[in-house]
Amino acid sequence: MIELVVRDRCTGCGRCVRVCPTNVFDFVDGRPVIARQDDCQTCFMCELYCPVDALYVAPNAERPTPVDEQTIVASGLLGEYRRNSGWDEWRDIPNLFWRQGEIFARARSRAPGPSAQDTASKLSSTEAVEIAEWPPRS
Ligand code: SF4
Ligand code: SF4
Repeated sequence: MIELVVRDRCTGCGRCVRVCPTNVFDFVDGRPVIARQDDCQTCFMCELYCPVDALYVAPNAERPTPVDEQTIVASGLLGEYRRNSGWDEWRDIPNLFWRQGEIFARARSRAPGPSAQDTASKLSSTEAVEIAEWPPRS
């Protein structure tokens, strides 16, 4: 679930607001604000699209995970999902279909936890998601 927008890092590009499928953010004074956290699907799209790793999505999709901003920034977790998923290898490929299933599978296979490989094997099939607007507007 989305937990944090690090305002000091945020450039106000608005990508997270545009890609969020459930309209979790409002845009206030040039920055995104988490306005409807309960609507978050923990899809990590906002993390993937953020160009400066200013967002933190906690892996618990069932309930909020209160976090301390300084601790999260110091931990190096910001942008971890983007790095682990291999997103950067595909972000500049200009086509309308992005193989999200494979991206998610790779991230899960690299995440700690006893069931990571099992999860990856279930997800690494043929799931594809159409991205209506690619690459995103800046
Ligand atoms: S994780 Fe997905 S649903 Fe949640 S705020 Fe980010 S883009 Fe929206
Ligand atoms: S994508 Fe990142 S930099 Fe852009 S508005 Fe959202 S948090 Fe700020």
